[in-house]
Amino acid sequence: MSSAIDELLANAAPQQRRFNGPATFGRSKHVVIVTCMDARIDPVRIFGLREGEAYVLRNGGGLVTQDVLRSLVLSQRRLGTREVLLMHHTKCGVGGLDEPALQAEIAAETGRTPQYTFGAFGEVDDAVRAAIATVKGHEFLPHRDRVRGFVYDVDTGGVREVIA
Ligand code: ZN
Repeated sequence: MSSAIDELLANAAPQQRRFNGPATFGRSKHVVIVTCMDARIDPVRIFGLREGEAYVLRNGGGLVTQDVLRSLVLSQRRLGTREVLLMHHTKCGVGGLDEPALQAEIAAETGRTPQYTFGAFGEVDDAVRAAIATVKGHEFLPHRDRVRGFVYDVDTGGVREVIA
């Protein structure tokens, strides 16, 4: 039985034949995008990016976790980024997640509970504001003056800014 990974691998060789070499650091816009892993979100298409122009950090919910902060510090201190674009989205699975139910399901199956939370949130604008506050409050980041938050609408393709 063919898997999705097998299908992706079948595309890799023809894609490589169209490869024009690595993008240069000189093309960087010195921006990091933090967003959800949701497959409907394509930051390259949404923002008209070319390879090499932006760093993209993704996880379930587009949350500013300790690991996202770690990567932001690395990107600012070693890769020259200066701006942070935080983008949540409508109809996010993490937004409507019943976290206690998921924790209980895992505990029932394994006898243990995860060491992490899944980050369920309510109002998306509030989640964006919390993400902005977390980044702006992280003192290891040298550049915190250009941190902005947005909501991507998966139905319209539009991007709306959330004013902190
Ligand atoms: Zn999501």
